[in-house]
Amino acid sequence: MEYRRLGSSGLKVSALSFGSWVTFSFQADEDAAAELMTTAYDAGVNFFDNAEAYASGESERIMGRVLKKTGWPRDSYCVSSKVFWGGQLPTQRGLSKKHVRDACHAALERLQVDYLDLYFCHRPDPETPIEETVRAMNDLIAQGLVLYWGTSEWSADEISEACGIARALGLAGPTMEQPQYNMFERTRVEREYRRLFDSVGLGTTIWSPLASGVLTGKYAGGIPDDSRMALPAYDWLRERMETEEGRAQIAKAQELAAVAADLDVSLAQLAIAWCLKNPDVSTVILGASRPSQLVENLGALDVVEKLDAPVMERIEGVLDNAPGE
Ligand code: NDP
Repeated sequence: MEYRRLGSSGLKVSALSFGSWVTFSFQADEDAAAELMTTAYDAGVNFFDNAEAYASGESERIMGRVLKKTGWPRDSYCVSSKVFWGGQLPTQRGLSKKHVRDACHAALERLQVDYLDLYFCHRPDPETPIEETVRAMNDLIAQGLVLYWGTSEWSADEISEACGIARALGLAGPTMEQPQYNMFERTRVEREYRRLFDSVGLGTTIWSPLASGVLTGKYAGGIPDDSRMALPAYDWLRERMETEEGRAQIAKAQELAAVAADLDVSLAQLAIAWCLKNPDVSTVILGASRPSQLVENLGALDVVEKLDAPVMERIEGVLDNAPGE
């Protein structure tokens, strides 16, 4: 495993990390979850991602039970949660001081840990002043309940504002952002956040490196019964794949599969290695519904060195979506 600094912080996270979202929410029982997490941990993964919204807290409960059962030393792994969608009541959602505090305590209980290593604001909340959220996060850090806080899918302007407020008030600012980043989704990470990488050394824990599985090439011949796109909760993904853009992505995945074949690697490995190649990526969060996928995807670490300039150029030729300046 390779370890990277989380932005300008001193925390070293594994370049590949493990996300529980779909797998723990819709597919896995506790034994399957334990097998996945153990496969990851044994390979050197030290960051396990979660959120209050995943299966209404059930994903955190499963992860908490696995962490307890494995008995891994608390100083050998990092665990996260995210606050935003806690429940239906007005006090149970968003980034108010109250919900940030309540959600943190509830996540700690579900995960059965004393502190969260990383705590994310799962989305921006236009109905809460950013200063209120910065103060709420700073309080949790001061209380030792959170080590680093960050954002997810915030704009560069919103993150800048949070950093500016924190600096002006002498409070802890955001250390990392959790954006979507993959071969099809590049603009935020490659262009919009550039100034934040340069100015505050923002870390990134990127999600959906395989574009929900499209970048494995497995949807070229239809929707396999045992795939994410076949899940009832994924109507939106199926519908998106029937649009012109979706069909173009499936076709591009086929072209990229040829690049992968020439390198003697799988398309999933190529797509993940391509994310790792970006030095602004602190960690790539892997989603996997079975251990064999995880083992394959962890192999992406060895593929990065194969991505030399001519290969990257060939990939760019297929993608044709590099964000301009
Ligand atoms: P991916 O885009 O990598 O999709 C993962 C899915 O692709 C797997 O569940 C599996 O689904 C399929 N897959 C993975 N590897 C293979 C393989 N080798 N061969 C064939 N199929 C494969 O990541 P996710 O969308 O799952 O996101 C990863 C994590 O990021 C989440 O768990 C969560 O922690 C985080 N996240 C954060 C968000 C945010 O807003 N902050 C939003 C979304 C995710 P299947 O087998 O069922 O087809």
